[in-house]
Amino acid sequence: MKLRAVKGVPDFWDRVEAANERCLVLDYDGTLAPFRENRMEARPLDGVVDVLERIRDAGRTHLAIMTGRPMAELIELLGDLSIPLSGSQGSEFRMPDGTTQRHEPTAAQEERLTRAMNGARAVVPAERVERKAASVALHTRGIPEERAREMQDAVCAEWSSDADEYDLECRHFSGGVELRLKGIDKGTALRTILRGRGEDALCVYIGDDETDEDAFEAILGRGVGIRVGPPGADTRASGTLEDTEAVREFLETWMGVTT
Ligand SMILES: [Mg+2]
Repeated sequence: MKLRAVKGVPDFWDRVEAANERCLVLDYDGTLAPFRENRMEARPLDGVVDVLERIRDAGRTHLAIMTGRPMAELIELLGDLSIPLSGSQGSEFRMPDGTTQRHEPTAAQEERLTRAMNGARAVVPAERVERKAASVALHTRGIPEERAREMQDAVCAEWSSDADEYDLECRHFSGGVELRLKGIDKGTALRTILRGRGEDALCVYIGDDETDEDAFEAILGRGVGIRVGPPGADTRASGTLEDTEAVREFLETWMGVTT
């Protein structure tokens, strides 16, 4: 079988093959599903769900998915794979048996998030401002880059003005900015998901944007971070895959190497 190389990690497939225990954790948007201007049209590439199901059923890999989206949206787009999931940038969890857990904002944070939503909707089109359970996001996908950057900067500046007092922070993601609970991110979510895995387990995390950097940091020393996108990004990941198409091929290879 032809093994597709993981740029930056020459011995990657040897390590995967040799591992006694493996975990594979993936981001959704920009990793399993190409971006769409309408976020609810961002479906996994053809074949991705099928190969994820085969990896799951083979029983040789602890598989999980993490996303910035609310959990319900992820399940709507991906289907229910009955694997561990984390949604809303690490603030929601769902286990294979359907049990869920969530970091709840305090009353003061709730009030600030609602005020942040209303403030943003006064200056940008309302449909671009999404209120999630524990955050508010401004989506700028489809807007010309310079204008998008201006909108992000203006909104983030307002949100950040008193964010500290509320233990919130404004962070960039691919296609926008988000006011969210401080100290809860894909890094903390990944640590939760990997809890209980053996010390010598090989853990791999694949993601494509700024928010995934927390997970790449969390996986240092435990395995391999792989960033999706053109090479040259400033990242803590050691490996690179070019695009969602390359991720699909990676998953096929993973299936082949581990079974
Ligand atoms: Mg992503």
